[in-house]
Amino acid sequence: MAKRYDVIVIGAGPAGYHAAIRAAQLGLNTAIIEKWLDKEDKPVFGGTCLNVGCIPSKALLEASHKFVEARDHFDEIGIKVEGISADIPAMMTKKDQVVGNLTKGVAGLLKTNGVTAYEGSAKVSAGRQISFTGHDGKSEELSAENVIIATGSVPVEIPPCPLTDDFIVDSTGALEFSEVPKRLGVIGAGIIGLELGSVWNRLGSEVVLLEALEDFLPAADQQIAKEAAKQFKKQGMDIRLGTRVTGTEVKKGKVTVQYTDAEGEKNEVFDKIIVAVGRRPYTEELLAADSGVTMDERGFVHVNDVCLTDAPGVYAVGDVVRGPMLAHKGMEEGIMVAERIAGQMPLVDYDLVPSVVYTHPEIAWVGKAEQTLKAEGADYQVGSFPMAASGRAMANNETTGVIKVIADKGTDRILGVHIIGAQASEIIAEAVIAMAFGASAEDLGLTMFAHPTLSEGLHEAALAVSGHAIHIANRRRKK
Ligand code: FAD
Ligand code: AMP
Repeated sequence: MAKRYDVIVIGAGPAGYHAAIRAAQLGLNTAIIEKWLDKEDKPVFGGTCLNVGCIPSKALLEASHKFVEARDHFDEIGIKVEGISADIPAMMTKKDQVVGNLTKGVAGLLKTNGVTAYEGSAKVSAGRQISFTGHDGKSEELSAENVIIATGSVPVEIPPCPLTDDFIVDSTGALEFSEVPKRLGVIGAGIIGLELGSVWNRLGSEVVLLEALEDFLPAADQQIAKEAAKQFKKQGMDIRLGTRVTGTEVKKGKVTVQYTDAEGEKNEVFDKIIVAVGRRPYTEELLAADSGVTMDERGFVHVNDVCLTDAPGVYAVGDVVRGPMLAHKGMEEGIMVAERIAGQMPLVDYDLVPSVVYTHPEIAWVGKAEQTLKAEGADYQVGSFPMAASGRAMANNETTGVIKVIADKGTDRILGVHIIGAQASEIIAEAVIAMAFGASAEDLGLTMFAHPTLSEGLHEAALAVSGHAIHIANRRRKK
């Protein structure tokens, strides 16, 4: 007889492990199945995010940022540093330790919460029957009242750039370089390309980003994107827009990249290439022919607003379903589904998913961009505050950037907040909370912020919407 659970979660990335833990917290007999093997072929939890995504990339971004601060900016604040160098193997070891601690932490959390963990792969058949095959090759039949698919995503590979072990790598390979490539080409100037390009640029690579689109960071507010492009250029990153890569050739230890831009066909030679052209949903070997789960036209598992698939009792969450491929979006979906299974009625507010680019300065936003509101013909007004006017930013030697609050002209309700500057990833949370409670710019203006903080910039930008910021000359507003 198949072992039966209230809930079986497939995939222990952020979406899956959040779902499993919440389901167990709510008293449901829960199992999770995860097939990931680490570099040493050991089973690990945490999925893309912990193993080859958010966490290792942030560890390298932070280390490389500190290196640049020490090398280029400490003297500005009276600290003399001599003989500074980056020890790449040591950086990688530290990053691997952080990843190891966190993946073990997830295993511990699953255990503490009473979730039964299976190490191996799962296949879904009709009637929520799950065939489990362990890493040892042994199979077992399981079944559940409810199944939650959280199988995530993998990097997109494009025909012009077949991956090689040493020269053409995806984001996972780019987290493992053992030395700094002299000339590094990054294909795709999306969030992942910019973050990984930044890491290696800071550590000494000459970085060229080749991006097919004409617009830079099209999802971001274009005023912020323009400032970001300026800053990245200043840092030495060569971002070429309107440049489509059409081929690559590895010869004599170098990679030649063929691409087309407005002027025609061109070549460029690099020591290594990072292919960062997006991610695709991952459902390989997951669904038996009779599973009843269907895909949408882009290959995502088809779900409704509350993540229910077309098969009764089968849900899907995270990168494998529509919406932004972000860890926190999947976490909230995982929690929502677990709670709905337990009889509660939560919803995810997809209008309030914050986006962050962890470059320096950081870029973060929530809600609508100004160009979107303009295209919609919305009646809005903007309050901006430059970080150069913030006392804390000056004290921190971090004066680059701006915070922009956009509010409805009639109701003053906040429609979007867009930030470029140090700690933007932290400040944006305050904007998300405000918007989640339907705050107006005036509400934010009436809220007390600790002084001196970078967050005061958000307060000032909100005050600037009505022309009442204190530390800048305000644009005149009608009384
Ligand atoms: P995943 O994390 O991909 O997990 C899915 C899991 O399912 C995997 O562990 C896989 O092994 C398992 N699985 C698949 N099929 C089966 C099966 N049949 N049986 C058993 N197990 C299975 N997002 C952010 O929000 N912030 C960031 O800063 C950020 N940085 C990133 C940096 C990089 C370099 C990359 C690559 C991604 C980054 N992301 C970031 C995206 C983030 O990692 C993903 O959005 C997130 O991991 C998706 O979570 P998930 O649980 O849906 O899927
Ligand atoms: P994202 O989807 O945000 O991860 O970003 C991936 C980026 O890669 C997108 O901006 C794409 O336009 C870009 N891209 C995809 N294919 C190519 C290509 N052949 N050459 C250059 N850029 C590409």
